[in-house]
Amino acid sequence: MTSATERPLLFLDVDGPLIPFGSPAGAAAPVDGDNPLLARLDPGVGARLTALGCDLVWATTWGEEANEAVAPRIGLPRLPVLDPPDTGGREGPRGLHWKTRPLVEWADGRPFLWVDDEISAVDRQWVAAAHPGPYLLHRVDPAEGLTDGDFTTLAVTVRSFGGRRGGPRRP
Ligand SMILES: [Mg+2]
Repeated sequence: MTSATERPLLFLDVDGPLIPFGSPAGAAAPVDGDNPLLARLDPGVGARLTALGCDLVWATTWGEEANEAVAPRIGLPRLPVLDPPDTGGREGPRGLHWKTRPLVEWADGRPFLWVDDEISAVDRQWVAAAHPGPYLLHRVDPAEGLTDGDFTTLAVTVRSFGGRRGGPRRP
């Protein structure tokens, strides 16, 4: 069941939205075995994501590593993780992102946002046909990562869903 007051889900990619590819990697060596890309994380981005009032879900090839390496660096708690599909030969149309079908199944009609740098027209068509509730597929420019403009779009969309607007959370 979907209710108008249910918090939307926000499926969150890491590479691109949180770790932009815009600046050269440089020659920085990993420190203590850390992935040098982690230095590109904005420590304040977790608070801004939390403020959107959504239930966050990792949707990234980082998988559980997002909870180990990314979440603590940006001030997010451990989040649920979208698993790659066990397609069993049912991959869907050519060009459909591996995340698209599982996240629509996860949402199960509930309002959601998907923030990623790899959203294509195929994904948009598939979600439009498969998801009966409100949603936003929001493509982030991987050269920049999440910008102020992106956050404005996300916040406006969450409000348009008719969900919570800073009110008390349900337990
Ligand atoms: Mg990405």
